[in-house]
Amino acid sequence: MIKMIKKKMPQHTCEGKIRSGSTWHPSYRACGKTATLEHEGRWFCKTHHPPTQRARLDATWAAKQAKWDSQRESLDEVYRKAAAYDKLVKLLEMFN
Ligand SMILES: [Zn+2]
Repeated sequence: MIKMIKKKMPQHTCEGKIRSGSTWHPSYRACGKTATLEHEGRWFCKTHHPPTQRARLDATWAAKQAKWDSQRESLDEVYRKAAAYDKLVKLLEMFN
């Protein structure tokens, strides 16, 4: 049976570093997962593959910026409404 023959593929382990230990005394250990992606001659798992990590960071950054933008917009709206309220109050005072 041909299915019985398993060709042994050379396996790489991920060279990514995992941070452990405390905040003030960090220590690092190798990821050690089966590596599936190669980058500049080194092997990484999907999590630690540098271009993938960078893309994920970029996505995180873009999401943060979008959030900040919408927060700034809603703040502008608050100021605009406050200014309109002031005008309204002044206008009403003129009629009093
Ligand atoms: Zn890894």
